Amino acid sequence: KPLVAGDNGRPGGLRGVRHIIAVSSCKGGVGKSTTSVNLALTLAQMGAKVGIFDADVYGPSLPTMVSPELRILRMDPETRAIVPTEYEGVKLVSFGFAGQGSAIMRGAMVSGLIQQMLTTAEWGDLDYLVLDFPPGTGDIQLTLCQTVAISAAVVVTTPQRLAFVDVAKGIRMFAKLAVPCVAVVENMSYFDGDDGRRYRPFGEGSGARIQADFGVPNLVRFPIVPELSAAGDGGTPLVVSDPAGPVGTAFMELGAAV
Ligand code: ADP
Repeated sequence: KPLVAGDNGRPGGLRGVRHIIAVSSCKGGVGKSTTSVNLALTLAQMGAKVGIFDADVYGPSLPTMVSPELRILRMDPETRAIVPTEYEGVKLVSFGFAGQGSAIMRGAMVSGLIQQMLTTAEWGDLDYLVLDFPPGTGDIQLTLCQTVAISAAVVVTTPQRLAFVDVAKGIRMFAKLAVPCVAVVENMSYFDGDDGRRYRPFGEGSGARIQADFGVPNLVRFPIVPELSAAGDGGTPLVVSDPAGPVGTAFMELGAAV
């Protein structure tokens, strides 16, 4: 049921945000940020008003993956609210746009900082705010779930067995907090060779097992695509440069799932 802006009980700058989508993974390097950014831009292409919050304090990836004109967050002198920067009409907040790095901090400090940045940013009227979670299922992630009512979670994994064990942890965390996990992304699932064959270098099927074991309604498989990696490093996400390609199509599927 669509929420009315201003009437959702969320704190501060989040009061006009209808749906908050958490994109999570238990390990780094599985493609969580790639998924967050391309999902957000796909939702925007589908006509929604969208924002991205990059909650990774230690290794923010948003500044590498997109190239907004303004690479720094401003503060509104009157309200003292953080003004998100923008790329392709999508509002962006990341610690990577905040100037100073934050190398040494305890978990509680990080949690506090994330909450403050998330809720003091003036998000305005949004259909979706995509939260790029830090990897793992520790205190920071828990606090984040408890601070803002998350509408749905997307869990990103790769096909290896180890990833299955870890990802189950992530889904259980969301279940405990009554956040529905609406989709599992099995990233780097396969690639299509020049010989016409489909290769699965990381093996088959943890995504399907997770879906079956936990009753997640959608499983979306993303291929290994060198262009996806190059686009991520180049500041123009692949769904922007090639919306009709295989990756763009897979993201439309994920967009429909959230
Ligand atoms: P995480 O947020 O989980 O740490 P990233 O989204 O930063 O992971 O992805 C890690 C690296 O893998 C990045 O260089 C990214 O471009 C690359 N990558 C992610 N998914 C794919 C894919 N399906 N095909 C090719 N490269 C990918």
